[in-house]
Amino acid sequence: MIKLIPMQPSLEKLLKFFSLESEKKFDNTAIIGGLAKMLDFWEGEARADGLSEEIIQAVVSRLKTYEKLPPGGRADSLRGLWKRIGEAYPEAKKVKGQPQPQKQAQPQRQERSDDAGSAKPNNAETSPSQEQSQPKQEHQKQYQQKTRQAPPPRFESATSAKHSQTPAALNAELTVLQGVGPKNAESLQKLGMQTLGDMLYNFPRRYEDYSLLKPIQSLMYGDVVTVLGSVQSVHNRPIRGGKQSIIEVIITDGTGALRLSFFNQPWLMNRLKSGDAISVSGKIDQYLGRIVMNSPDWEPVEMEALHTNRIVPIYSLTERITQKWLRGQMNQVVTFWAPAVVDALPEITKREAQLVSLGEALTQVHFPESQARLKLARERLAFDEIFYLQMGVLRQKRDWQDVEGRRFTVTDEWLDSRLGVLPFTLTSAQQEVLKDIRNDLGSGKPMNRLIQGDVGSGKTVVSALGTSMVVSNGAQAAIMAPTSILAEQHYRSFTNQLAGEHGYLQKEEIRLLVGNTPESEKEAIRQGLLDGSIKVVIGTHAVIEPDVQFKDLQFVVIDEQHRFGVQQRAELRSKGTNPHLLVMTATPIPRSLALTVFGDLDVSVMDVMPEGRQTIATHVLRPQERERAYTMLRAQVQQGSQAFIVYPLIDENEKIDARAAVDDFETLSREIFPDLKLGLLHGRMRPSEKDEVMYKFRDREFDILVSTTVIEVGVDVPNSTLMLIEGADRFGLAQLHQLRGRVGRGSKASTCLLIPTHEDATENDRLQAMATTNNGFELADLDLKLRGPGEFLGTRQAGFASSLKMASITDLPLIEKAREQAKSLFERDPYLTQPEHALLAEAFERFWKNTSSDVS
Ligand code: ADP
Ligand code: MG
Repeated sequence: MIKLIPMQPSLEKLLKFFSLESEKKFDNTAIIGGLAKMLDFWEGEARADGLSEEIIQAVVSRLKTYEKLPPGGRADSLRGLWKRIGEAYPEAKKVKGQPQPQKQAQPQRQERSDDAGSAKPNNAETSPSQEQSQPKQEHQKQYQQKTRQAPPPRFESATSAKHSQTPAALNAELTVLQGVGPKNAESLQKLGMQTLGDMLYNFPRRYEDYSLLKPIQSLMYGDVVTVLGSVQSVHNRPIRGGKQSIIEVIITDGTGALRLSFFNQPWLMNRLKSGDAISVSGKIDQYLGRIVMNSPDWEPVEMEALHTNRIVPIYSLTERITQKWLRGQMNQVVTFWAPAVVDALPEITKREAQLVSLGEALTQVHFPESQARLKLARERLAFDEIFYLQMGVLRQKRDWQDVEGRRFTVTDEWLDSRLGVLPFTLTSAQQEVLKDIRNDLGSGKPMNRLIQGDVGSGKTVVSALGTSMVVSNGAQAAIMAPTSILAEQHYRSFTNQLAGEHGYLQKEEIRLLVGNTPESEKEAIRQGLLDGSIKVVIGTHAVIEPDVQFKDLQFVVIDEQHRFGVQQRAELRSKGTNPHLLVMTATPIPRSLALTVFGDLDVSVMDVMPEGRQTIATHVLRPQERERAYTMLRAQVQQGSQAFIVYPLIDENEKIDARAAVDDFETLSREIFPDLKLGLLHGRMRPSEKDEVMYKFRDREFDILVSTTVIEVGVDVPNSTLMLIEGADRFGLAQLHQLRGRVGRGSKASTCLLIPTHEDATENDRLQAMATTNNGFELADLDLKLRGPGEFLGTRQAGFASSLKMASITDLPLIEKAREQAKSLFERDPYLTQPEHALLAEAFERFWKNTSSDVS
């Protein structure tokens, strides 16, 4: 995985709320109920991220007193706090985490334009080609007339020679432009532009395509359109006794007249003057038999834009900057410098991928001459982004494989005998993955493999077999899981498999190391790992503590990889010399992300479920049908099964009326199921308490486990057959699927009941999708579409995915095309040392310069 913005998710969240709070002028409304409310979940997340206790306490105490401070004091408090966090966690500081929205957003934008601007040259030595030194006449038209009348003199004087220094000029400050002083430069900086090069990569937010305009005469009721016209009349019509008003505007375009109504916007009286040309966008309505538009979006039309370019760019704006002014500046820069940009992409790549030149792309993306050319421009710019990404990913993969890994080989007989003692036969998918693992271990290169398999697909046994191959050859293995209960569960299955009746290890050679392992035992384990008498250690974060050292660690397994940071994986890996690494995840990863975010890993997919597994029948119930759910639940328990009831929150919060575990636990155990045994599990309990409850549930001391989402990860209680999820609309799709995977792990038919907070949420897309399919991959695809990559990944791994400006991380055809080109380039010139790749190598380094290229 690639580390770009390695900020802990909990810090990211903090920053998000601080920024929101700043946007809301520190009125303590960024979170319902006040900022202190975020401590409900934040503290736990921060601990999970491994933030220092000192920082956690600092956040807790500041947020607790936040409410009492005056707004000024609040701003200072948050800024001070963030500064302190930045000192402790420089990765957070990198975002210049001023809790101010623009300042916070801005470096990200810069990073983006840096990334996207990788092809943007800054090499003063490179003399542009003939073509480049002459701005392309064909694009200029009237725009160029304007720029010709007003050439950018300060700009030229800043760069003594003209086009020969073009690339350097692209690094020039914006104040070299005519009409841009320090004030405007500051505004432009808010939009993410600091240099001329940044301007070229400041792509339009959207376009107004005047070629698609409809004449007023042919407008129909219900049309959603943009109409162009000149203002004929403006009237103010007071209503409700003069307390409110409607501004009525009539516009005409020569074919007919259209009435616009603006409710309560009296200032329009002064803004719109008879004869003004405006474009209005909105829906055509009907009033007394005539067509009207109610409160449409409108903006003044610049006639020149209209006549010169039929497709007009619309840019994001900020204070003091108008569309017209910015467009003029953009035009000036694009006209002169886009054609002069040096294209780093090799000719052969451009030819094979059928791409237009960078100059053409940058010109057309701003001032397109047709939709077709705009499309080609966008394709080229999107290709660049993904191409550099793929080159980085492939390079990381190559770096990883450049070092040697110890060879571990086993015979077929050995493997057959290991498989023979398992209580089941492997699924075809498990066999395939096992083959991959065996190949990797025997290859002489360090394994760097991700197994992705839906919950219950049987990843553990495969990782244990891999461990076996290494350990039977005398080396050591470490297995890391995110929670004690999972570690303990793995410990038991590994012990059964490797040290049981048919195993070849002694029980003492496999050890469990978790947070609350007694210190004396920890010491013994550390000793055993160091002297090599312990072969396998299974544990939580405890295994990456610095004082845990190995004699010969050769195999590292990380379960539920998304729960760990890149740092933690790196730490575990660094305890051996180029150990083989196997990471496992139950979060299905769509192919597009597998090729990008996880592109440096080899991926094995476990897409077959063990025999006898049944699909989990899933139903969405209305809140009024809760009684039915309880009846089903009781019936399951009477048949000897167990059940979960899951809640989104811990206790009742008056503002959010989701049902809460602690509150309902009382009612459930006293009134609804007084005859059954109920257990309660939530995130505020101490880890040892949580484990105890979980163990009791596993050992069937409870019939029903009432819980928050802490049961999400890999817990195996095959006897549980029903899961009731309350407030189901408050969960993400991936989370719902993970939760559901807690049932249906045995051979008994299982059910999942989803009850949303309100009746109208029963039609919720996510809930309906859950009821339609059990396939984690389908759900993941949908989830990615519904939420976008940042939310979907939910970790800093999304860093670069969300930094793409033009490409979409879900655009699989583009990703595959770029990957193919990057691969073939790497085959021709693996280290980009050939002279014709010099520019490319430079652009590539620039693209990745903020990347401490960490592979895991
Ligand atoms: P996950 O992939 O979610 O980590 P586990 O490895 O915990 O899944 O396996 C879930 C359950 O399925 C375990 O009880 C395991 O023993 C069982 N299991 C694994 N492989 C098979 C198989 N091939 N046939 C039957 N049961 C299996
Ligand atoms: Mg598992």
